[in-house]
Amino acid sequence: MRDVVVIGGGLSGLAAARELQRLQIPYRLIEVKKRLGGSIISEQRAGFTLDGGAFAFHRDDDWSFLKELGLEDALCPVKDSHRRDLVAFKQGSQMLVDALAQGLTGTFIHRMAVSSIGTLDGHFTLCLENGLMWEAAAVILAAPARHTERMLRTVVPEFSQKLMDYGYDTITRVSIGYEKDDMPVPPIFPWDVAIPFYAWTDDPNRVPADHILLNVGVRMLPRAVKADAIVQELHREMKASGKPVVSRVDFWEDADPLPPHLPEFDAKMTTLKNLLPAGMALAGSDYDGFEFAKRIRAGQQAAQKVGDYFKS
Ligand SMILES: Cc1cc2nc3c(=O)[nH]c(=O)nc-3n(C[C@H](O)[C@H](O)[C@H](O)COP(=O)(O)OP(=O)(O)OC[C@H]3O[C@@H](n4cnc5c(N)ncnc54)[C@H](O)[C@@H]3O)c2cc1C
Repeated sequence: MRDVVVIGGGLSGLAAARELQRLQIPYRLIEVKKRLGGSIISEQRAGFTLDGGAFAFHRDDDWSFLKELGLEDALCPVKDSHRRDLVAFKQGSQMLVDALAQGLTGTFIHRMAVSSIGTLDGHFTLCLENGLMWEAAAVILAAPARHTERMLRTVVPEFSQKLMDYGYDTITRVSIGYEKDDMPVPPIFPWDVAIPFYAWTDDPNRVPADHILLNVGVRMLPRAVKADAIVQELHREMKASGKPVVSRVDFWEDADPLPPHLPEFDAKMTTLKNLLPAGMALAGSDYDGFEFAKRIRAGQQAAQKVGDYFKS
């Protein structure tokens, strides 16, 4: 049996690889970046755990999948500007990526992109960016729509055409650590459409004693604005005193997918998924929701779909 190629090493791709392994289906995972995690990147610095991407989540999401990964005690409380009951990972969201990747024995290829996909004699052919061709019995697409669109141009042009309109908002995620007395709690920014949300925690797993960590999402900031200037501006706007102990600024060009906000999105995606050839499955956040539980489930379902295809 030829193996399955999983394209993308974010949560969706890793969950798919894990499920393939459970089903004893051989796989290769290809990831264009040198690290796994996609939109997740965590860093430990000066006693703080900073998240440059996904940081805070709804407590009442379905977190039951954490148990199987040994992460049932991994969440800590976070407060946010909308007074929601949120949680974060005690050692950063990367904790989940690492747990998903642990024990995976398939082949992992990093720093290599899949450029396009074709079919030949009942199997898939994948053209890599270095010109190499791979063959695969099945493919799991766990990359964002803007990349999938290009990969599928030849093999499913009508699918690709629809994904071409897929738009995103940019976001700059800013983490700032303070001594507790220096940051007003709750922090209040002058009303501004450019700051859609912010969240903070003083959980001892994430910050040193008597410190606090703020994570702000800022829209409409050009990439060229210097990180220090952004931190200083936020510091001034919320009337913090002292100096930040630590900060981290991450600019994400294509962060928030826009189409999922449209009422017809789910129906459209169902129609699109039906255009995929047998042996090809889709499992990324651009297709059915960003929540982590959905990512894990979508990855697992994609692997199961491939498993069913092999049985048929
Ligand atoms: C900046 C940011 C902040 C977020 N914050 C939150 C939050 O606070 N709370 C929350 O619930 N959710 C948040 N999310 C959403 C959440 O992070 C995502 O839903 C989830 O991580 C997506 O996982 P994924 O595997 O589907 O996609 P991704 O994480 O995008 O992974 C896709 C992977 O595919 C790789 N790839 C792309 N093209 C190719 C190619 N041609 N060949 C090989 N590999 C390729 C990419 O490098 C990437 O690693 C945030 C997302 C972003 C971007």
